Amino acid sequence: MSAQIINGEQVARDLRRQLKEEVALLKQEKGITPGLVIIVVKSPFARVHVARLKERTCQQLGIKCQVIYLPETTTDEEIIYRIERLNNDKSVHGINIHPLTPHLSHTLISQQVDPAKDVEGLHFLNMGDFLIGRYRMVPFVAKGVMKLIESTGIQLAGKRAVVVGRSQLVGKPLAFLLLEKNATVSICHSVTTDLASYTRWADLLVVAAGKPRTINSRMVKEGAVVVDVGVNQVGSRLIGDVDYEEVKNIASWITPVPGGVGPVTIAMLLDNLIKAARYA
Ligand code: NAP
Repeated sequence: MSAQIINGEQVARDLRRQLKEEVALLKQEKGITPGLVIIVVKSPFARVHVARLKERTCQQLGIKCQVIYLPETTTDEEIIYRIERLNNDKSVHGINIHPLTPHLSHTLISQQVDPAKDVEGLHFLNMGDFLIGRYRMVPFVAKGVMKLIESTGIQLAGKRAVVVGRSQLVGKPLAFLLLEKNATVSICHSVTTDLASYTRWADLLVVAAGKPRTINSRMVKEGAVVVDVGVNQVGSRLIGDVDYEEVKNIASWITPVPGGVGPVTIAMLLDNLIKAARYA
């Protein structure tokens, strides 16, 4: 059996069309143009190409976007100072901070963002709301993964779901969203013993470990739906965490990398931004 491809580009195209209409409506009804600021501290972690892609997508949708590039030597205090100014700027509705080098504290910094401009959904007030099922700002990568799963038409109620990875941005919120859909969820991580004994059990397997070839075909149940969130630069290529060539012969549905989760997460970040602008 060869898996059907979950086409992230197509799902993202449909989402962008809806978002463009929402932006136009917001301008027409309230005279508001949504404004996004992306903070990128230059380093190998920074994913500068993704910032450019977000900028381009904003242009297409009629959203204002500014990318602030800071040098690798930037401190927590400097970033917090910038955030305070952006919090007070009425033309800015959302702040997105790209992955930081280990000498900076993403947790400390993300808590300085005004919760109303927290388009990443990582401020503790938004996280708290999220955990009691009040979906104001849902972490956008997890929201994107749910859109991709929805696009397959599979019903999650009663299914066994396994999430590999437990980060604040991806693994934990995703496990919670799957639970809300009545899947039975296990979360695995780097200390899980015998990872395969969990993954082989999964009707739905979502992998966000950030390690190439974390999952091979012997670790996947026949007919499972496999979503690969991982993005790893290997030489000049981007690959996921799942051995795609092997696993596509076992799974019923699978996301490619690139062209799977990535395009949809950008759309979901902008979906959060438009919500923030509407309720500003
Ligand atoms: P992260 O914060 O580094 O978290 C990785 C998680 O994977 C951790 O919970 C870690 O466990 C777990 N892990 C690592 N190695 C493992 C292993 N061998 N077996 C089982 N679990 C393992 O990363 P993240 O921010 O969640 O991102 C994960 C991946 O998704 C990265 O490749 C990132 O680039 C990608 N990503 C893609 C998008 C997109 O739009 N496509 C967006 C965001 C992230 P511990 O907690 O025990 O350390």
